[in-house]
Amino acid sequence: MLKTMVVVLALGICLSTSAGSKPQGDESSLPEAARAAMKGIDAEKIRATVQYLSDDKLEGRGTGQKGGDLAADWLSDQFKSYGLRPAGDNGTFFQDVKFFGITTDQQKTSFRFVPKNGEVMTLKFGDNFVATNESHTEIAEIDAPIVFVGYGINAPEYKWDDYKGVDLKGKVALMLVSEPPSDDPNFFKGRALTYYGRWTYKYEEAARRGAVGAILIHKTEMASYGWEVVRNSWGGESSYLQDEKGPKLKSAGWIQLETARRLAQAAGMDVDQMMKDALSRNFKPVELPVRLKETLVSKVRPFSSRNVVAKLAGSDAQLSKQAIFYTAHYDHLGIHRDEPGDNIYNGAADNATGCGILLELARAFAAAKQKPARSVFFAAVTAEEQGLLGSKYLGLHPPIPAGDISLDLNFDDIQPFGEPEQLVVSGAERTDVYPEVEKTAKDFHMTIQPDDHPEAGHYYRSDHFSFARVGVPAFSVNEGALFKGHDLAWGEEKEREYVAKRYHQPSDEYKPEMDFTADAKLAKVGFALGWAVAGAPRLAGWQSGDEFEKARGASQARGTR
Ligand SMILES: [Zn+2]
Repeated sequence: MLKTMVVVLALGICLSTSAGSKPQGDESSLPEAARAAMKGIDAEKIRATVQYLSDDKLEGRGTGQKGGDLAADWLSDQFKSYGLRPAGDNGTFFQDVKFFGITTDQQKTSFRFVPKNGEVMTLKFGDNFVATNESHTEIAEIDAPIVFVGYGINAPEYKWDDYKGVDLKGKVALMLVSEPPSDDPNFFKGRALTYYGRWTYKYEEAARRGAVGAILIHKTEMASYGWEVVRNSWGGESSYLQDEKGPKLKSAGWIQLETARRLAQAAGMDVDQMMKDALSRNFKPVELPVRLKETLVSKVRPFSSRNVVAKLAGSDAQLSKQAIFYTAHYDHLGIHRDEPGDNIYNGAADNATGCGILLELARAFAAAKQKPARSVFFAAVTAEEQGLLGSKYLGLHPPIPAGDISLDLNFDDIQPFGEPEQLVVSGAERTDVYPEVEKTAKDFHMTIQPDDHPEAGHYYRSDHFSFARVGVPAFSVNEGALFKGHDLAWGEEKEREYVAKRYHQPSDEYKPEMDFTADAKLAKVGFALGWAVAGAPRLAGWQSGDEFEKARGASQARGTR
């Protein structure tokens, strides 16, 4: 999962006791050949994949590191052995992805607020602010006025525009995190966070408007994670795609709430009042009588890694030009050589499990005696832990036009705790595939667990989002907390224990007592769902009014159909 993610697991309340005694998948309307292939999905093969990929020999599969490359080679060998066709660059299974790794030099960097009247405020990296240079140069000099732009959001569909046409060229945008709070589902999706609330959007929007820098004001309750998450995530190297087009900020940063309070005071303003003003549709940007004077010094490290992409051709002459995708990231955090003791971040659950599922899906589809009408792609993507970058590259450079991709189903961190009786498919309800998802869940005697923390914006933090942003209906398939033979509290406790003791730690390792029934079951759910969508009369789409509907329309207008 993404580096800045604070795991607030959606621990739902299950009111249903519908888990029956019939064998799973029996009521499925799949053709016989598909059902036979699906039954071949094997929990023990997923175990073998997890055991291999999370072995110390793979060194935690760091992006741009030896272990990550070994994993990519091995995954391509598996796809090949199933008889799948390569779908990467130049007839290979690999899609080459080039990155810049940017590390801010905390000693050489200086960051000061210079008010028109009064004392200069010199800030300390980590304690008061963090900043990174998105334009990939070693030195950036900024001396520019600061403009408070409220939430920094322009969302025509909610009739919300914080910018009101104010020119930001050469200026620094000061912004709040998140989005205007609401319980109205028609206004920024109510409690749920939309993409407008994510910091990535805010930097992108400020850069599009010509700003040279942007500063987010951190407030724990608004961000849904503490300052130490910001500090830890931005203290090391940040990665960027080399080929990303478009304007870039010289300085993308955050300041801590108390620092913002002092900045407001220096400007003769009050930060609480500023936050209140930003809640109004009539808010207008305010230029502060304060300049940011910053020298941002960075170390720039170019490196590359690979997505591994395989294809199974569909059976219909016309529809096989369209496809569904299955994705799972294979990278994890690598080795942290400067840490004492066990410093290999093996990433067994995160995300060797998803790779195990991806490979079983690939093997089952390849073995099916009959193929679905549309083609099926299988992509093991890199650099998820660097900010969904491998999948972002794949979304921007898909092997077929994005407008021809019906659906992406993603698998990330499927806990090997036994047989799950609940599905978590957050975001699926935003697509017109949802009735099929409900039907599939029923076929497998599973209930759908709702997202109890929609405000945390999990939808924007895993690889399916890279497809959604280019318009492709997409979501992740995860297990809920209710497992066969246990009560809900048991599953919740197991999840809590994972988050506290193993998540993004060297202790996320393979253990023989792991029970991969969960992973096999979710693979079968994904198989049944994917098969149905691959053979459906129409391409999947978004519910009308969804924030990704526009992107879908744009990519289909550009498409080649
Ligand atoms: Zn993950």
